[in-house]
Amino acid sequence: MSNELSFAKLGLITELNEALESANYTQMTETQAACLPDVLAGKDIAVQAKTGSGKTLAFALGLLSKIEVNAKNPQALIMCPTRELAEQVAEQIRLLAKRMSNLKVVSLVGGMPMGPQIVSLRYGANVVVGTPGRIMDHIGKRTLSLKKVNTFVLDEADRMLDMGFEDEMKVVMHNLSQTALAATRQTLLFSATYPEQIQIITKQYQRDAKIIKVEEDK
Ligand code: ADP
Ligand code: MG
Repeated sequence: MSNELSFAKLGLITELNEALESANYTQMTETQAACLPDVLAGKDIAVQAKTGSGKTLAFALGLLSKIEVNAKNPQALIMCPTRELAEQVAEQIRLLAKRMSNLKVVSLVGGMPMGPQIVSLRYGANVVVGTPGRIMDHIGKRTLSLKKVNTFVLDEADRMLDMGFEDEMKVVMHNLSQTALAATRQTLLFSATYPEQIQIITKQYQRDAKIIKVEEDK
């Protein structure tokens, strides 16, 4: 099947096409169709789309397309407002990455002991998904290296701000801006609303981000 909303037209690697097929994802949502060409082209985008529109897949396919499994340090960092959302995103990425052998997704969430997280990071994490406070803790302890992060995702950015994570978000983004990859890193921002605080973050921390507003989605 090939049509306007077909994943086939994206030219994804076989491993991802097979994972989409076995997960029974056949058609892109409107949001995915609106974002994926820019995501896969490496562009920065700020997406406003409502809950349930399939935003996770929109960034997961992008970052997984760029992963070099044998690299030592994490290449993708995703920040989510809550533990539950971070775990859900990690699960979704693991599902999509199941044909990419040895690819490791580590979640760094609060309320869990640091020790096992540190061990997982030391063992080699390709993709890191976490909550703002815990990501900041690991950066502070130097147990999470940002130097190879080529994709940074702010998921549910408006909710993170509502929950009072502005300082943590800024500390993480500042740390990312101090690395050598800062000039070429892709930053993807997703939000259900687009308040002024988010526009400021977009201007300050994204590179000429395209604003994509998806009005309708199933
Ligand atoms: P959002 O982050 O926009 O709230 P999610 O990424 O959590 O949305 O996706 C919502 C639900 O839709 C999930 O259960 C996900 O598995 C499903 N989904 C996402 N993309 C597709 C698709 N292309 N086809 C079918 N189901 C999809
Ligand atoms: Mg989401």
